[in-house]
Amino acid sequence: MNVLPDTLMIPVLLILGAAFGSFLNVVIYRVPKKMSVISPGSHCFSCKQPIKIKDNIPVLGYFLLEGRCRSCNESFPSRYAFVELITAILTICVYLIYGMGQDFFIYLALTYLLIAITFVDIDHFIIPNGFVLIGLGILVVSLFFGWIDIKWDDAVTGSFVFAGFLFGIGLIGQFILGKESIGFGDVKLGLVLGGFLGTEYSILALYLSFALSAVIIFVMMGSKLLKKDSKIPFGPYLAAGTLISLFTETPYGGNYILNWYYTTMF
Ligand SMILES: [Zn+2]
Repeated sequence: MNVLPDTLMIPVLLILGAAFGSFLNVVIYRVPKKMSVISPGSHCFSCKQPIKIKDNIPVLGYFLLEGRCRSCNESFPSRYAFVELITAILTICVYLIYGMGQDFFIYLALTYLLIAITFVDIDHFIIPNGFVLIGLGILVVSLFFGWIDIKWDDAVTGSFVFAGFLFGIGLIGQFILGKESIGFGDVKLGLVLGGFLGTEYSILALYLSFALSAVIIFVMMGSKLLKKDSKIPFGPYLAAGTLISLFTETPYGGNYILNWYYTTMF
């Protein structure tokens, strides 16, 4: 079901996606600090001046102001523009994969939740329970109403495979490293992600998450961005692994990565 032709839909979704990204910036900053996400409106962290509506245009506003506050000239972190941009791009990805049906809204909500989780985990090394509960709520409601193409039993198995594997790795990590490697927040998030993915995609997403984290940690250590005993948030890798698994779905219901794997290995 497509309401508008793609030539109109894609620009509209880019703008809406960037606007949602702007809201996600607020969520990422305020939720871990237990602040309201509604009031007060956006303001400069330095001089507390509210940001004018004309300056609060996602992505563009940042570049028009050259990344600085109009009142006090303090620079804004470029990450705000990055979060808006990545939200806009992922909104288009979800649309191109799912079209404009019920599952578009479900997977879009999941994507936005994962963007928030990624940056909160990077900033604070936590995955707030509120985010996990929202994810669980969306999952249960969409399974109940059949809004996503996955069966209850597959969702439940996926949940236990995903969370159980993380829990197991966490235990082993604790035992070998003597410190927390996979947190309990990651395990709880795994319950939600496994439910959205089902068993087969859960295994793919876990594989991608660990492979990605290995590559990125290796590169960061090589470039001295990361010290040997630095704390590493795992939420971003789980988010990336999950989204890559979902977004590589073929139009016929298979998955490009899994197809490639099965044709190359067997
Ligand atoms: Zn200012």
